[in-house]
Amino acid sequence: MLALDSSSARIEIQCLLQQVLHVSRVHLLGHPDRFLQDFEQPRYNELLRRRLAGEPIAYIFGEREFFGLKFKVTPATLIPRPETELLVDLALARIPPREPCRVLDLGAGSGALALSIAHARAGVDVTAVDASQDALEVARENALRLGIGNVRLLSSDWFSGLAGEHFDLIVSNPPYIAATDAHLEQGDLRFEPRTALASGTDGLDDIRRIIAQAKAHLNPGGWLLFEHGYDQAVAVREILREAGFGEVFSARDLAGIERVSGGRN
Ligand code: GLN
Repeated sequence: MLALDSSSARIEIQCLLQQVLHVSRVHLLGHPDRFLQDFEQPRYNELLRRRLAGEPIAYIFGEREFFGLKFKVTPATLIPRPETELLVDLALARIPPREPCRVLDLGAGSGALALSIAHARAGVDVTAVDASQDALEVARENALRLGIGNVRLLSSDWFSGLAGEHFDLIVSNPPYIAATDAHLEQGDLRFEPRTALASGTDGLDDIRRIIAQAKAHLNPGGWLLFEHGYDQAVAVREILREAGFGEVFSARDLAGIERVSGGRN
C-alpha cells in the first residue's frame, strides 16, 4: 500500500494544505477547524496522489529554498540540499571583498550554487555551466526571478566550452553516487536526473575528470572546491594531491560528515 513515511507525514500534509489554501504555516496551524471547500478538494487530492506516488515535494511545488533564496526546480534539475550550503560558505570565505573575482560553477543545475554566490557578492563575475539545456533554462529563469545580473550561463560539458578561460574559484556539486548504489532507487533520488547523481562504478568518475582539468582553468592561487559523498573524502584528497593541488582540505557538514573538499592551485 502507498503511504507517507510516518516520521514526516504530518509536516508533508501540512505543506500540501498550505499549497492548496495559499496560506502560511502560522495561518494553517492557527485554524485547525477549517475544512477544505468543495472547490479545493480536487486540487488537494491531486497533490496527495502525486506525493503518495513518491514524487518529491520540491517537484510538486516546483520550488525549494536554498541559502535563503527560493529556487524554481523541475525534474531536469537536482533538488538543492541543505548540506550544499556548506560549499557556498566555503566559497564566500575565499572571495576577497573588494578585488575582481571570477567564479565558475560546474554543473549548475537549478543554479543553486552559482546564484547564491552571485547574490551574496554583487561584485563577483560568476559563470555557471551545465551540459543540460533544460537545466540551463531553469537556472536562467531563477537568475531572472531573483534579479541576479552578475551570472553568465553557458552550455558546457564540464570544461568543454571554456577553452582559454581562467577563474579564481571553481565550485561544483557534481554527480558522485556509485551507479550501482541502492539509494538511487529510493526516495527523492528516483525522480531526480540520473546524470546529476550517478558517476561510474565508484561514483568518482566526474570528480576525477574535474580535478584533472581544473588546474588549466585556475589562476595562480585559485581554489577548486567541490561536494562529494560521505565516504569519499580520503580518496578525493589523494586525487587532489596527485594532481598537484596545495592546501588540500576537507570540511564537515552539520551532520559531522566530511562533505566538501578542495585544494589550491
Ligand atoms: N549545483 C546544483 C546544486 O547544487 C546542481 C548539482 C547537480 O545537479 N549535481 O543543487
